[in-house]
Amino acid sequence: MPSLPSTTAMASPFRSALLGGTQTCLRQTRTSTTQIAHLRRLASTLALLEQREGKLNMASLAAVSAAQKLGGPIHGFVAGSNTKSVAEAAAKVQGLDKVFYVDNAAYDKGLPENYAPLLIENIKKGGYTHVVTGHSAFGKNLMPRVAAMLDVQQISDITGIESEDTFVRPIYAGNAILTVQSSDSIKLVTVRGTAFPSGAAEGGSAGVEEGSDPKAPCPTEWLSEDLAKSDRPELATAERVVSGGRGLKSKEEFDRVIPPLADALGAAIGASRAAVDSGFADNSLQVGQTGKNVAPQLYLCAGISGAIQHLAGMKDSKVIAAINKDGDAPIFQVADVGLVGDLFEKVPEMTEKLKSA
Ligand code: FAD
Repeated sequence: MPSLPSTTAMASPFRSALLGGTQTCLRQTRTSTTQIAHLRRLASTLALLEQREGKLNMASLAAVSAAQKLGGPIHGFVAGSNTKSVAEAAAKVQGLDKVFYVDNAAYDKGLPENYAPLLIENIKKGGYTHVVTGHSAFGKNLMPRVAAMLDVQQISDITGIESEDTFVRPIYAGNAILTVQSSDSIKLVTVRGTAFPSGAAEGGSAGVEEGSDPKAPCPTEWLSEDLAKSDRPELATAERVVSGGRGLKSKEEFDRVIPPLADALGAAIGASRAAVDSGFADNSLQVGQTGKNVAPQLYLCAGISGAIQHLAGMKDSKVIAAINKDGDAPIFQVADVGLVGDLFEKVPEMTEKLKSA
């Protein structure tokens, strides 16, 4: 990566204090080491993987990384058309012992109405103690229905695993960190991808087997979808992200200023909710509490004030760089590197320097 033009370095002493939040503990009983060792032998996890048009969604491998922290055997599960090849690709993922697939186009879109009975049948057949999947649109759509049908409590958006029954999750946009203990016999967990980076996608040699298909009827019909297409890196998993906020003033200015900098850095584009709500950027680019969580090596943002709801989605970035004309903007309290100035001048200048580096 070319080096960034020199900037005014600003320390971020408040970053951890601001974002570390309160530690709230709802634990009822402490699990003893002996109990944990016993549970570890009994734990078995089904990692629910995602596919789109016959391709394994690599972001969903965060479920496998999380499952590895639980101990015990880990089986993958994938369903949809032509999923045998997806299962074969997943079999190479390190950490999986076996991958089950169900080849049926009825599961292509992950509709909870028929996917939930499918998953439950396979959970029961495998006798799993844990079911783990990404806290993605797919996981968020499906798992509550599975939880209701199994009469267990879903444990959502976890960022840490303390033991087989104790999980850590942020609440209030990351302002408080909750530790929850579950006594349910099956733990249904969705994981925050940025907290469980995917491991190696090659080198594994899991067995591939056909799962069981209850062919439950689906009262819902998938009509259409309108997906934003982009050649840029996927926002949620990109190594670098360039984000723009309300300070960009208009869609025209956003499109004029932000993409060239993103191109120069090979970065994905993100945006604040204010920028999305004002129509400067597509919904799919929103970073934050009600948008995407990102944790790139570099998060470079311009014209973003640093509201807590925005920070909730990008605070885990390795290096946060901010450009803002207001030296007192809260974003500078979390930024590792800050530049106080007019973005309409600074961003093009930075882009030119990067291009000529
Ligand atoms: P502003 O706060 O208006 O900041 C604009 C910044 O641009 C200012 O700091 C200003 O100094 C700077 N600026 C202006 N002109 C220039 C210039 N020429 N050069 C340099 N700097 C300039 N927000 C999110 O981002 N993501 C979420 O997921 C999200 N979820 C939310 C959920 C809830 C329930 C609520 C209540 C709010 C949520 N918000 C979210 C909104 C959030 O509270 C803020 O309103 C939003 O993040 C502000 O966006 P912004 O920083 O672009 O705009």
